[in-house]
Amino acid sequence: MNEVKVINSGNKFAHATVGSLHGFEGKQFVKDATGATSCEISFGTLPSGQSVPFFHSHKNNEENYIILSGSGKFQVDDETFEINEGSVIRVSTNCDRNIKCTSDTPLTYICIQAKEGSLGAYTMTDAEITTRGNLM
Ligand code: ZN
Repeated sequence: MNEVKVINSGNKFAHATVGSLHGFEGKQFVKDATGATSCEISFGTLPSGQSVPFFHSHKNNEENYIILSGSGKFQVDDETFEINEGSVIRVSTNCDRNIKCTSDTPLTYICIQAKEGSLGAYTMTDAEITTRGNLM
């Protein structure tokens, strides 16, 4: 089972890791390690043929699943569909969901959970180009 480790942090950032995603096992939530205030992020993996052992629903938060490797099926209420590496699935509040690995290799994914309807400005309506010197 991978653990979440804080690598370094400053006044304006926190850097944590779950380690290598090759051979990653289980589920890890990272909000507490980074101190995130706008969303919860988790890394998850399912071995071949496995699904999450329960369905669940959220009252306030939508979830966005990003499939990093493997392939499988996703179920929302009574609808199922195929998912593959690169798939991004948004799931609304108040519905049941589950995910299953159907590939020979594990299905590895990130789930980002955030309050439904909370995104106002984003990308270029929220960001501005700044003039900081590059130290890298
Ligand atoms: Zn959830």
